[in-house]
Amino acid sequence: SDSHFPVPISPGQVDYSLHYPQHFPSSDQVDSGKKIQFADIGCGFGGLLISLSTLFPETLMIGMELRDKVTEYVKERILALRVTNPGQYQNISVVRTNSMKYIPNYFEKGQLSKMFFLFPDPHFKEKNHRRRVISPFLLDEYAYVLEVGGIIYTITDVEELGDWMKACLENHPMFEALTDEELKADPVTKLLSSATEEGQKVDRNGGQTFRAVYRRIAPAL
Ligand code: SAM
Repeated sequence: SDSHFPVPISPGQVDYSLHYPQHFPSSDQVDSGKKIQFADIGCGFGGLLISLSTLFPETLMIGMELRDKVTEYVKERILALRVTNPGQYQNISVVRTNSMKYIPNYFEKGQLSKMFFLFPDPHFKEKNHRRRVISPFLLDEYAYVLEVGGIIYTITDVEELGDWMKACLENHPMFEALTDEELKADPVTKLLSSATEEGQKVDRNGGQTFRAVYRRIAPAL
């Protein structure tokens, strides 16, 4: 349950020196200016973070994962990569938390430039839709922590969930869809279906995927 993991009371209390020791050699340097910009929500085994790490070596990123053992695995995986590739993989980390409750504890208004929701749990039953990580209510929160121009990436192999995520984003006043040209030009698009463990599984089984990628826009005046 929630009592088993610590939750920072505000984004300023997140100890960056624990996550990114090379960027923050001591805990009193939290104000050096650099902040987490990408968040992988329900990161699972961390494949996306690892791919993004070398693609955006100057960007700090974090995975948020509810399962304790999986989080520990990702931590070990990142530490091992840091050892075998000196100077690399210093910009990625993972935290065990419930993203549906604690996003505002980790990120300030407008802090993030990308959020990822790759192959989230489908929660098929109507009464469980409130447990989906994309919902009208949670999109308000994501709009708050994303900067204007920031991007939400979603992908699933469950058509019904794909339709649901797209509809939630389409109907939200603070998001607009990227055009096909923008999607083609974005180096991250390719990674959505290929970088994560779940994506690779779906690909091996020849499954279809459903993607929705939206930009945080400024509120209409
Ligand atoms: N994104 C990864 C991938 O594509 O391989 C993992 C996909 S897996 C089907 C969904 C993950 O979301 C699981 O690892 C699960 O533990 C995590 N998860 C579910 N609810 C969560 C929550 N409220 N907060 C954080 N993680 C959550």
